[in-house]
Amino acid sequence: MVKQTIQIFARVKPTVRKQQQGIYSIDEDEKLTPSLEIILPRDLADGFVNNKRESYKFKFQRIFDQDAKQEAIFENIAKPVAESVLAGYNGTIFAYGQTSSGKTFTITGGAERYSDRGIIPRTLSYIFEQLQKDSSKIYTTHISYLEIYNECGYDLLDPRHEASTLEDLPKVTVLEDPDQNIHLKNLSLHQATTEEEALNLLFLGDTNRMIAETPMNQASTRSHCIFTIHLSSKEPGSATVRRAKLHLVDLAGSERVAKTGVGGQLLTEAKYINLSLHYLEQVIVALSEKHRSHIPYRNSMMTSVLRDSLGGNCMTTMIATLSLEKRNIDESISTCRFAQRVALIRNEAVLNEEIDPRLMILRLQKEIQELKDELALVTGEQRTEALTEAELLQLEKLITSFLEDQDPESKLEVGADMRKIHHCFHYLKKLLTDKKIHGPSRAPFSEVKDQVNQGPSTEEEYKKLREILQQRDNEINILVNMLKKEKKKAQDALHSSSMDRGEPRRSQSSPFPPGNPEGLRTLPLSAPTQAQDSSVIQYRSSLLHRKTGVREEMSLGRQEAFEIFKRDHADSVTIEDNKQILKQRFSEAKSLGESINEARRKIGRLKEEITQRHVQQVALGISENTTVPSAPDPMEEKLRSQLEEEKTRYKTMFMRLKALKVEIEHLQLLMDKAKVKLQKEFDAWWAEEATSLQVNSPPVNLFNHVKPFPQTPESQHKRSQLLSNQSDVYTRKILPSPGPLLHSQEQSSTGTRLEDSIAKRPVSSVPLTGDSQTDSDILAFIKARQSILQRTGCQ
Ligand code: ADP
Ligand code: MG
Repeated sequence: MVKQTIQIFARVKPTVRKQQQGIYSIDEDEKLTPSLEIILPRDLADGFVNNKRESYKFKFQRIFDQDAKQEAIFENIAKPVAESVLAGYNGTIFAYGQTSSGKTFTITGGAERYSDRGIIPRTLSYIFEQLQKDSSKIYTTHISYLEIYNECGYDLLDPRHEASTLEDLPKVTVLEDPDQNIHLKNLSLHQATTEEEALNLLFLGDTNRMIAETPMNQASTRSHCIFTIHLSSKEPGSATVRRAKLHLVDLAGSERVAKTGVGGQLLTEAKYINLSLHYLEQVIVALSEKHRSHIPYRNSMMTSVLRDSLGGNCMTTMIATLSLEKRNIDESISTCRFAQRVALIRNEAVLNEEIDPRLMILRLQKEIQELKDELALVTGEQRTEALTEAELLQLEKLITSFLEDQDPESKLEVGADMRKIHHCFHYLKKLLTDKKIHGPSRAPFSEVKDQVNQGPSTEEEYKKLREILQQRDNEINILVNMLKKEKKKAQDALHSSSMDRGEPRRSQSSPFPPGNPEGLRTLPLSAPTQAQDSSVIQYRSSLLHRKTGVREEMSLGRQEAFEIFKRDHADSVTIEDNKQILKQRFSEAKSLGESINEARRKIGRLKEEITQRHVQQVALGISENTTVPSAPDPMEEKLRSQLEEEKTRYKTMFMRLKALKVEIEHLQLLMDKAKVKLQKEFDAWWAEEATSLQVNSPPVNLFNHVKPFPQTPESQHKRSQLLSNQSDVYTRKILPSPGPLLHSQEQSSTGTRLEDSIAKRPVSSVPLTGDSQTDSDILAFIKARQSILQRTGCQ
């Protein structure tokens, strides 16, 4: 058992430009415990707290200032927790802080760069790396992803997300068994055999969460997300299973309603916006007070789910995320205060070991049988029923391997069953009799043969014969080995030529090499990757399904509007950047893949040379009638050291390629997520436009109400240019033309003017199709376009 208080860490988010920085300092006391001192500005201090303190000091295990990198956060905070989870203890890391203080950035990571990936992806990477290294145990990993919003639990990985909205899916509910263990009904567990699979589940859950979010349901700030890694391990043959859970928790924003500073109100009186955070605080307060018998876990779903993490069987860590700008000082102080209370909570983590009943039954059955046999032997109560066919076969196999075993010490273990012992004697007798009748040629076993044929006339003759036999044996062995090597060489040649044939196609679609050179330890990019790749693709296509599904239904006008929206959206810069990085990584991976293939070929060549050298040596030995020379061959030694070097090089490149693959995967997922977000924002903007259009009848006067696209500062100019250059194309495309879409060059100038004039006409006079969806698309687009033209002075 490990007794430990909850570890508390603080992380200060980099200040946003133009925001006034609050004053704080980070120091260490004489025991090297770091502390964070927050200075309350005079103007706030007066009305803020009635005792008019000007500075607050809080101790933490460690404080990460603005420049702390994600890598450092993982190494110092998450890695120790992941290690104890690998050892079989439960672990929890939760981020607590006001909205926009960096909780999601810390737990999941930033949405743009690979280097910004947070605790979850890094922990997954670390855990899978460790599992691969440890071959002494069999590990199984499952993932679940729960969101709690308004006291309701949602399974972010429910496969039915495709067809239904979050609200329509069955809610996750908490059940408690008689031993007070918590079970979550309707929360799916997904097995993940690789880092990529687990990462895909994370992105799938995040995307599902993003899609479900509406302005009414600000899930990202008001909900709690619990990403759980369930790990079980077992030694081969053992019936004991270790299970550990790691919860990675992104809590709702901790901001409170009654803003302090008004009327000298005490900070502690302010109420959380989020009710379950209020209950979380109640639980923390109860736990931090000594001699409290009742802890109100059941008051909220979140405290029920995290029951073990808080004052129970778990190693728990809290990260207080702080945004220390002047306007956020009060919330920051409140976050630090919460952390100080949390630090008083003592947890007791135990190894979660249990017996696998199926394995236990098998083991007990075997033991019972052995005991029965032994008992029968001791009491003289012999079993009389005949041995079964299977038992007889088993016995004969045992005898055969016993006789073939060259080891003089070997034993024939048949247990304490007299029937079996008798059968063994019978069988051996039969073998000996057969030998006598049919002569030595039929003898299956050399030992038997030796015994039966005892009778060389003199001791000397016998010795000579044995020597010849020994020599022949050696020769046969050498020749068999040579034959094996030749066969192998032929196979290798066949294999590599078939691979060479397959390579050009493969390198086009994927830069990763197809496998390892024979002889190297299997590395994780070989066979299982294919299965895993298909699941990765499946996840991705499932992520993108909705997006493309929506796109396919879009009318042409709407598609055009989407293109402009996309170009002007701030996120498109990120998407473009990531595309470039992705391209670079792909070409890096491709050239690495080529080098790896080259190294593999070199390894093959070296092996071939070594074999040839060996064959030559052996052949030399045979022709000179001597055995294989015992002195090492310097040429062969050199080849071997070259081979080792090449293998090391290969391995290093292979590991780098593996890391690249994860990075590429991550970047692709980031981009997919950004695209889904873009589509979602466009849909919202579009719907808003369409609604305002339907509500307001005299359209021209109301164009001023049209909201601009979310935009980058430079986008305005670009957009107006874009619109004026391409206006004819856009207008044309949204015309309710029954024919196929015409290319811009194919349009007549008359057509262009006509369509342009339609676009500039009041909306009420535009010819409509009668199809409400298309019409509302046409109207919304024309309105948006006119509004843009108006604002940019083009009309
Ligand atoms: P929260 O989840 O607490 O509401 P976020 O993690 O979403 O806050 O952070 C808000 C914004 O600040 C995001 O754009 C995020 O990328 C950025 N951010 C947060 N922490 C950091 C950090 N340590 N370094 C750089 N950017 C950060
Ligand atoms: Mg967040």
